[in-house]
Amino acid sequence: MIVLATSPLIRSRPIGPSQREYANGAVLVETRLDPPALLDALQAIEIRFGRKRQGQRWRSRTLDLDVVLWSGGCWSDDRLTVPHSELRNRAFVLGPVAAIAPCWRDPVTGFTIKQLAYRLKTGLTARPTPPR
Ligand code: AMP
Repeated sequence: MIVLATSPLIRSRPIGPSQREYANGAVLVETRLDPPALLDALQAIEIRFGRKRQGQRWRSRTLDLDVVLWSGGCWSDDRLTVPHSELRNRAFVLGPVAAIAPCWRDPVTGFTIKQLAYRLKTGLTARPTPPR
């Protein structure tokens, strides 16, 4: 896996009952792994950083690595949805991704990351574009 770009880190408040603030960042990587194999690799890294998966969904976690976008477009299986289903709703994801890939287009809505960040900030919704 080759890291091509790294974003600055931004702080965000936790979602749910967790008390801790989080540091959020994005990296652009080049890899031969398909999305499920990449998720396996990311989860192995989370475990190395002490993450335990049991218990509450929103409990404090040491590290949370997600596949946000993929150059192949969309992926969906029983474990994984790419683009990440919350991509368009989370400023702490769009902000770092916009820092390294502002012109990357969300294959579901057709908007670029920069446009999605603007739309979230200004309260515009990002619905998929209707088929022509
Ligand atoms: P999380 O609590 O954020 O680590 O996510 C828990 C589960 O979400 C993972 O074990 C995956 O099976 C699933 N998941 C679905 N889509 C994604 C995605 N794009 N990136 C990472 N995990 C995902």
